[in-house]
Amino acid sequence: MPDKFLQNVLYIDLTRRRFWIENRKDLFEKYLGGVGIATQLLLEECPKNIDPFDPENPIIFAVGPLTAVYPLASKTVAMFKSPHTGNLGESHAGGRSAIAIRSAGYGAIVIKGASETPVYLAIHESKVYFRDASILWGMWSTFTVGRIIRENEPGAGIRTIMRIGRAGERLVTYASVITETYRHFGRLGLGAVFGSKKLKAILVSGKHSIPVTDKKTYRELYDEIYDAAVKSPIMRKYHDLGTPANVLPLNELGALPTKNLKQSKFEYAEKISGEFLAEHYLGRRIACANCPVACIHLATLREPYIDEPYFYKTTWVSYDYEPLFALGSMLGGFDVPGLLKLLDEIDTQGLDAMSTGVTLAWATEAMEKGIITKNETLGLELKWGDYETYRKVVINIVKQPNEFYQALARGAEYAASKYGGKEFALTFGGNEMPGYHTGPAAYVGFLTGARHSHLDSAGYSYDQKMFKAQETPTPEKIADHLVKEESWRQILSSLVICFFARNIYKPEIAVKALKTMGYEFTIEDLNKLGREILKKKYEFKFREGFDPNKLRIPKRILETPTPHGKLAEKEIRKAVNLYFEKLK
Ligand code: SF4
Repeated sequence: MPDKFLQNVLYIDLTRRRFWIENRKDLFEKYLGGVGIATQLLLEECPKNIDPFDPENPIIFAVGPLTAVYPLASKTVAMFKSPHTGNLGESHAGGRSAIAIRSAGYGAIVIKGASETPVYLAIHESKVYFRDASILWGMWSTFTVGRIIRENEPGAGIRTIMRIGRAGERLVTYASVITETYRHFGRLGLGAVFGSKKLKAILVSGKHSIPVTDKKTYRELYDEIYDAAVKSPIMRKYHDLGTPANVLPLNELGALPTKNLKQSKFEYAEKISGEFLAEHYLGRRIACANCPVACIHLATLREPYIDEPYFYKTTWVSYDYEPLFALGSMLGGFDVPGLLKLLDEIDTQGLDAMSTGVTLAWATEAMEKGIITKNETLGLELKWGDYETYRKVVINIVKQPNEFYQALARGAEYAASKYGGKEFALTFGGNEMPGYHTGPAAYVGFLTGARHSHLDSAGYSYDQKMFKAQETPTPEKIADHLVKEESWRQILSSLVICFFARNIYKPEIAVKALKTMGYEFTIEDLNKLGREILKKKYEFKFREGFDPNKLRIPKRILETPTPHGKLAEKEIRKAVNLYFEKLK
């Protein structure tokens, strides 16, 4: 018998300060959890064509049937209408968020309305408190906000604290939500939706235990998954160097976007590599709750106090491949302390590091070309790798003292539409690019993916496989592969498994794990369901005005050669069209 608590959806109305719980067996039995039910709730709760900052824009958090039960089922899915792209918003984060939501007795939380004054929500199992957050609003550091809430809030059991920084308060459209200090709902501006609702933070705590239907098989399967997680060489890589292990191989391949993708090789890649950071800066590794891998790498940043010789302030900064690309090679920078300081500022303010880096890269090139001048930047001169100036620009993006910074606060796509330089504004569907100039499949994936992210269908990985096999990724092959991959990922995201464990949670393991929790699904059922969920996402996207024919392809990606040579726009468009034909 599936867990009844998982079927509970907690609805919160910030305008009226009310909450209620509904049993949504209908949703959880059909769509499992995570992205499956969150997409359905988004279709139900988000009025057509609303402004993302309208109080009616819902924030939906969802977990799945394997959450808090199996290793690496550690993520929470957030869905909302994105203020950054004006369309589907989806972001995943780990930390303790998923396990806390489930232990509090919920499968999903839906937050609507807006408060007139700053508020934070304290959800202690069946009780929800609307706490005054006036004192926290405007506070410089998201870390301090977390600490204050942690110390003031009673409650035992597993706890999570999700909060925004000043970027979210000031509606920067790529503001993030930070959870447990080092994890983020990074992409597509969930932080700004929080800010528009005057919602500073959400604390969730709970102690519910979770029933398992078939305990014997559960124990065996748990051990099998656990062993695979700690013994497999791929997971070992995530633990040892983490995703920054990708810097050198991608550079070697000529796929590392550098200086706003004017180049695809970075002469100083070694200095921002996982190996270099591990050797010189790595201080600790930590893990999301229920994960034995511990892929979160924390660098130590030591800075002397100005007036106190031999006194140092030590800051922990978490780093991954994506921030290293976006703030390293993409900005032509390799001074690691400068890069870490910039990353720390971005975290402190509560911004998405990838969108920030790619937007800064556009601005640097725009200045180089004379499209913008010091008049716009208020006297700052942006130069590749100049981290001190980048830090000042980031603070101005949050403060927004003039029209130029207001434009940067809406990302590279918007800034380029206002000032020019669209051909080198590296956004896809309005979202700034990830760090993969691997070939056509990567870009078709960014264009077609429901959230315009590399995580939707991992085209970058397909490009690399094809390159190794010395095969050409034709539009037909690309479309075929991406539809299959993105469909299966809907199942992983409904269960909500960390994608790093995608090679462990193969279809047969997913079926077996679900069975121990009382769900009867075949591999075929799951494949069908994955495709159905993906189509539901597109139902939302098309409803909100998404049109594949209007997708902009920045010229820059066609100019800089990839490992598969120079890309042709015609071929990319053909693959995009084929993708949508195959999805029908
Ligand atoms: S592998 Fe990393 S991101 Fe994934 S659940 Fe474990 S610690 Fe979290």
